[in-house]
Amino acid sequence: MERKTLDQRAQMTDLERLRHSAAHVMATAIAKLWPDAQFAAGPPVDDGFYYDVELQHRISPEDFPAIEAEMKKISKENQVFEKVVVTREQALADAQSGRLAALAPRGVPSKFKLDIVQNIPEGEPISYFKNGDFIDLCAGPHVMRTGNVSAFKLTHVASAYYKGDEKNPQLQRIYGTAFKNKTELEAYFKMLEEAKRRDHRKIGAEMGLFAIDTEYVGPGMPLWLPKGTALVEELEKLAKETEFAAGYVRVKTPHLARAKMYTTSGHLPYYAESMFPAIELPLEGHLLEQKKILRNELRSCEAKLELAQDDLQSKIQKAGQVEAGDLVNSLQTRCQEIRLEISKVSSTAFYYLKAMNCPHHHRIFAAEPHSYRDLPLRLAEYGTCYRYEQSGELFGLMRVRSLNMNDAHIYCTQEQFASEFNAVNEMYLKYFKIFGIEKYVMRFSTHSQEGLGKKYVNEPALWKQTEDMVRQVLIDSKINYVEVPNEAAFYGPKIDVQVWSVIGREFTLATNQVDFAVPAKFGLVYKDRDNSEKTPLCIHRAPLGTHERFIGFLIEHYAGNFPLWLAPDQVRVLTIGDEPPLVDYAKAIVQELRANMVRAEGDFGTDKINGKIQRAENAKVHTMLVIGPRDMEAGNVSVRLHGKGNVGAKSKAEVVADILTSIRERRA
Ligand SMILES: [Zn+2]
Ligand SMILES: [Zn+2]
Repeated sequence: MERKTLDQRAQMTDLERLRHSAAHVMATAIAKLWPDAQFAAGPPVDDGFYYDVELQHRISPEDFPAIEAEMKKISKENQVFEKVVVTREQALADAQSGRLAALAPRGVPSKFKLDIVQNIPEGEPISYFKNGDFIDLCAGPHVMRTGNVSAFKLTHVASAYYKGDEKNPQLQRIYGTAFKNKTELEAYFKMLEEAKRRDHRKIGAEMGLFAIDTEYVGPGMPLWLPKGTALVEELEKLAKETEFAAGYVRVKTPHLARAKMYTTSGHLPYYAESMFPAIELPLEGHLLEQKKILRNELRSCEAKLELAQDDLQSKIQKAGQVEAGDLVNSLQTRCQEIRLEISKVSSTAFYYLKAMNCPHHHRIFAAEPHSYRDLPLRLAEYGTCYRYEQSGELFGLMRVRSLNMNDAHIYCTQEQFASEFNAVNEMYLKYFKIFGIEKYVMRFSTHSQEGLGKKYVNEPALWKQTEDMVRQVLIDSKINYVEVPNEAAFYGPKIDVQVWSVIGREFTLATNQVDFAVPAKFGLVYKDRDNSEKTPLCIHRAPLGTHERFIGFLIEHYAGNFPLWLAPDQVRVLTIGDEPPLVDYAKAIVQELRANMVRAEGDFGTDKINGKIQRAENAKVHTMLVIGPRDMEAGNVSVRLHGKGNVGAKSKAEVVADILTSIRERRA
């Protein structure tokens, strides 16, 4: 893990400060229990904090109560976190004497702290943070007192190499979490428990939504079962309707493209390890011919070069001087050019599975000439992409190797950017409303000056301009966002959308990017009013993310109890008994619903109604229509809702109309 810069430290949130301070309190407690403990780094992380420690004793969860008890004492003592600025010499001396990350000097150096001091850049101030007798090398920031660290819990132990390098010693990484108060701490653990109950892998299997067949299909490539496909299709329908109304046009692209596509886009070689390896096909038709011609040309060029070199050599021997190397030079250059041509032609034999849809969409833009009148052009596709995620990283639907993305690329002029970008944000908000997502944040990642030409395309003016535009839209639309420096994409600023499920679990769903560099690489242009050629800006957006991740999120968000429009099993008609006229009446209702694209089925067997209801409840069928002889005579049906029970009888026509309206309006 990289050391935080002083700037990054200054941006630590209150919660991160608290958690980092809790790491110091934990280290103090561990030092009390095991004075020979050697500490490395103790940063805050997403859900809490950790501290890496080297210690003979293997710390296990059984040790947690003892460590937590010491931590409680330290918290009660309400020690001040005192910052002490020291000279480099002082820090080196204290590290040597074993005084750092310890309660007192020890016989042996604080070896990791010593290494850290030695690696602090010359000129950067060095400081300690002291609480009681515990002194740690640290740039802060911290909370005021150990008493502020009162709601904490240790969670697990893992192992980690010092500085993440397997050549270094292996350390014990002790994780914990801390919150502002006990209520928040308890709420967090309750949420985790609830999240476990709602685990999308568990509910997905129970409801028969998807399967991962590692033996025949491969890891990370979910198969959508019929009920999961119902979810997929409802989402696509929603996206298609929404995008159509917003002026998008739909396109379709193949899953493969030549290597040239990705060398142009820049994915190769930089993104190569996240892509599936190339597929080599034989060269075909004119390319094969071309390669033959180039090979012959190369052979003759090399022969000429050899002659020229011999000739030159004999001249040198005779005259004792070098006179005209021009011919040799130009032949060498020519041979090199031909070799390059050959490798270009050969590379056309290589195809890659697409890891992104953008390059294909760029080629669609390039397929026809465009004038400013065609812009903005909004190309949408539920595109299937393939990413070679490490097998250890794969996780249910959340981390997969094949993904279906709610993708679109908006090609627009500078002037159109603000309104287009704003419309994308509006679309997000519309979706959040439909799915009952109440808490979200847009993480706006910008570039850094130092990264220009390395991590980021070297276009300082364009960076400033696009970032200003994005920021202005975010401010004007009063959308909830945070700005994160130095995390932009290579070719422009990006926005990651984080949402919280109904139980408060955080998910990163989608990423939007502004691209001012790649369209130029693909030579994309439009004719402006004055007939000059200009390069459009491109907005990448995917509000519903991928089917995989979004459905994973929805399963946990709804705990599998989907609203009617989304539910894989929308309606089940249950008969009380199996008398033929009653079954005919029930069948007609199923027929009518199915004719209106409602996922309805019947359960007309002889078994008792309670058993039928139980079965439907277990399958999470949203609406149950219970029909007995009396209902039939009155032209009625009794309605039961999943998890809510009986909501009363109504006329058949009214019930059907209600169902259709609820689905059409995508009611919660
Ligand atoms: Zn600290
Ligand atoms: Zn894209």
